[in-house]
Amino acid sequence: LEREFLKLRDMPAETPDGHRIALMGNVEFIEEIPSLKGHGGEGVGLYRTEMLYMNRQGLPDEEEQYLVYSAIVEKMAPLPVTIRTLDVGGDKFAADLHLEDEMNPALGLRAIRLSLRKPEVFKTQLRAILRASVRGRVRLFFPMISGIEEVRSARRLLDEAKEELRQAGLPFDDGIEVGIMIEIPSAVVIADLLAREVDFFSIGTNDLIQYSLAIDRTNEHLAHLYQPLHPAILRSLKMVVDAAHAAGIRVCMCGEMAGEAAYLPVLLGLGFDELSMTSVSIPRVKKILRRASRADAGRLVARALSYSTAAEVENFLKGEISARF
Ligand code: PEP
Ligand code: MG
Repeated sequence: LEREFLKLRDMPAETPDGHRIALMGNVEFIEEIPSLKGHGGEGVGLYRTEMLYMNRQGLPDEEEQYLVYSAIVEKMAPLPVTIRTLDVGGDKFAADLHLEDEMNPALGLRAIRLSLRKPEVFKTQLRAILRASVRGRVRLFFPMISGIEEVRSARRLLDEAKEELRQAGLPFDDGIEVGIMIEIPSAVVIADLLAREVDFFSIGTNDLIQYSLAIDRTNEHLAHLYQPLHPAILRSLKMVVDAAHAAGIRVCMCGEMAGEAAYLPVLLGLGFDELSMTSVSIPRVKKILRRASRADAGRLVARALSYSTAAEVENFLKGEISARF
């Protein structure tokens, strides 16, 4: 098995009918980069920066962040690193940022909301990311976007951060790509409007499923109700991919669903441009992609979307996937 995966590493992530999907890695630490490369990752699709802020006293300053981001960006260059701004709150804690206890932390002051509430903390991170952008290829994205104003406010602060670097004479990539996570149902519904504001989408299914189905992603008693194949989720994914492509922007999936090889035919059929997952999942996903047909996957998705329950979709996929993929 290992030898087979090694062989796969250098083969393109492409279907026999010539359709490519970029297979990227989710990382939190620089130590994960060799494994990502070893498994054939084509870049970092999600770099979670929370770890820099957690389990410590005080907050990381610009220089510390710049050094950490630069090291990862240089290690991956010329492949891209997609850096997500701070996503604390909910199931991710950072003692030095927490304002007060909340009744519903998953619905609370977290992620982009917290960054917009603390613009100096946010801009410190943005300047560090911008400075790292000249050390390789960097893309930047914002978590937990629920509406247009958040995107515009975040972009305004990004412009300020750029201006501050200009004043200081520090170089950065002025054309850095800016994207957003799509992981809140309101963002799905207005995906067409959001697509005009950014360069790419990345769907976070971990939270999108949690918020769409009102199932706490960490509650083991509800695990059976946490259904990636729920018709509401499939329709949501389709809406987002179609809205992105209608606006001419790329769409990635970086939730756990992306690394589940059994879902690959569905994600291929929906039209995802990129999938980002834990490194070890890449060879298995690539193996299925290299045997799949984009046309068959498109028909598969059309049928999958016609069912009314997750169990029906799952049954249908089981049969089809063993027969055709
Ligand atoms: C997600 O919500 O799917 C996601 C990728 O982000 P996180 O798991 O960090 O919330
Ligand atoms: Mg999330």
